[in-house]
Formats: sequence, C-alpha cells, structure tokens
Amino acid sequence: MRKSNLATANLPQVGNIRIFERIENIYMKAYVDKQKCSSELRICKPIAECPEKAISWVEDDEEPLGSRMEIDEEKCTGCGICVSLCCGDCIEIK
Ligand code: SF4
Ligand code: SF4
Repeated sequence: MRKSNLATANLPQVGNIRIFERIENIYMKAYVDKQKCSSELRICKPIAECPEKAISWVEDDEEPLGSRMEIDEEKCTGCGICVSLCCGDCIEIK
C-alpha cells in the first residue's frame, strides 16, 4: 500500500475543510513528461533545488537519451518549486 493511502485512512475528524485540504496535499505530486525532458543532469535546477531531494537522475538504457529524471512520490510534497525552475517546461503537479 502506498504511503498516501495509509495517510488518508488515518485522517483525523477535525472538520470537512481541513480534511479536504489534507487530502489535496497528499495527492498532488510532481510528474516529469519524458517526451519534453532533456535529462541533462548538469543543468537541471529542479534536482539541485528540490527541498525534499525527491528528484534524481537515473541511467536507463531503454530511454532514447540513455537516462531519465525520476521523482520519488513518497518524498515529493507537491510544492511546485521544480515546475518554476524547469527549463524545458516538462514538470507538472497533478
Ligand atoms: S530542467 Fe527540466 S527539462 Fe531540464 S533536465 Fe531538469 S527536469 Fe528535464
Ligand atoms: S514538487 Fe517540490 S518536493 Fe516535489 S519534486 Fe518538485 S520541488 Fe521536489
């Protein structure tokens, strides 16, 4: 079971609005569009600036560029910093 499902199951009964906000925070995560990403470790500001260290560069021979960016869903808080720093406009929060 994913961590987010566990967290949802344990939400306290503190009022509808707070519960809704917590659910939204749990499920909003960053995703990389591999079609747009240049997978350039040297220039990637999102990797360097992610406060949760949730983004990593991974060698992958099955990718056309030989590597890809990977976001750890367990670490990502959906803060959106990476979206504003990505030079390729390839990261979305959803
Ligand atoms: S800045 Fe964006 S496009 Fe460039 S490597 Fe990083 S994630 Fe990919
Ligand atoms: S949304 Fe925030 S925590 Fe998630 S990968 Fe981007 S910078 Fe890191």
